[in-house]
Amino acid sequence: MAEIQVRDCPLCGNPASCLSIGRGHLKRFVCAACTDFVISKGAEKRLADDRSGSIQMADIARRAPQGFMLEITLPVPRSTPWLRTRWISKPQPSKEGEG
Ligand SMILES: [Zn+2]
Repeated sequence: MAEIQVRDCPLCGNPASCLSIGRGHLKRFVCAACTDFVISKGAEKRLADDRSGSIQMADIARRAPQGFMLEITLPVPRSTPWLRTRWISKPQPSKEGEG
């Protein structure tokens, strides 16, 4: 089952809740500073070497419309220097007492 861990937020570096989703390929973060967002492993790795990119993504994540959150993934082709972002619907809170 999904397990919530506390990790450093890949966007701002503050402690954030992290949950693996999408067969472990994606991670959902809930950060007090950056709100909710989803990031792929590849995108997280790329941002680890790109401080200004992280700041930019944090800024975008904070502008999520009501009920949506930012998804950050690697672009196609992967040599493209920027990351792919889109708004995705926030999953409905489960009735099993999540969070
Ligand atoms: Zn953050």
